Amino acid sequence: MVRFLAALAVLAALFTTVQADELDEILKPIQVTERVWYFKGSLEGRTYENQAFTNNLAFVVTDEGVALIDSGPSSQVAERVARAVATVSDKPIRWVINSGSQDHRWLGNSYFAEQGAEIIALKRTAETQARFADQHMARLQGVLKERLEGTRPMPAPEPVDADRHAMTLGGVDFELIYAGDAHFPGDVLVWLPGEKTVFTSDVVYLDRMLGIHPWSDIRGWLEAFAALEALEPEYVIPGHGRASDLAQARADTGDYLRAIHDGVREGLENWEQLDQTVERLGEMPEFRHLTHYDEWHRMNINRVYLDLEANP
Ligand SMILES: [Zn+2]
Repeated sequence: MVRFLAALAVLAALFTTVQADELDEILKPIQVTERVWYFKGSLEGRTYENQAFTNNLAFVVTDEGVALIDSGPSSQVAERVARAVATVSDKPIRWVINSGSQDHRWLGNSYFAEQGAEIIALKRTAETQARFADQHMARLQGVLKERLEGTRPMPAPEPVDADRHAMTLGGVDFELIYAGDAHFPGDVLVWLPGEKTVFTSDVVYLDRMLGIHPWSDIRGWLEAFAALEALEPEYVIPGHGRASDLAQARADTGDYLRAIHDGVREGLENWEQLDQTVERLGEMPEFRHLTHYDEWHRMNINRVYLDLEANP
């Protein structure tokens, strides 16, 4: 009998292991300061297994509740996030701040709103969310399948019509700072002056190569990065990759943006054709260590060329 029970226990353990999924790993909270925690998203592309949790999502434990920075790519993920936050704090999630408009930054909004959280975003961020909602849902549908069920796109219902917005929750000061369109129009920095911590949205990518899209703005991105530097943060929680500091943010993002911007500008001034510029800048060994370098680097140069050519 004892042996039989032991065998059952082993089977049960095996079963649990099989049931555990990639999200369990992602949803292990990582502490940065006494109040600040984050979940480090997968550095890979969106898959059914990682449930499109390919970005960082952070939270701040205040005396009067938890503030979440971004809400995840779906309602089902949002529910798992809520459970993971509850392992750190039994306080309610009072705020959900959207630092951007890419799918995984805001499609969990409706879940948290139903739980009583206030959704906070700048107007320009919410406008981009509304503009891209259908496209993001369609793309996610193909990846997440039934895991997208229950997800209802909900841009912040009462967005703040300003470029800077300060607010306080439970003794912690927060500031939303828009300093330029970056990866998406309306990306913002979320700054905690008392914690010397900045949540960068997609303004900073660490460990992986950032991606320039047709709607990205290289000059706005450089301005947003300069605003980030001016804050002199001690802790940088990037949009993707491990939390680090300003020096690392410069090395993996700021220097890269500057290098491709200046390189492409030089090409345009010298009347280079697109393929000549891509060829000349196609190898940047100092950034080769970044994950997805091979897929993204040349494409980034291509898109920056088209951007700067169309908007001289
Ligand atoms: Zn992103």
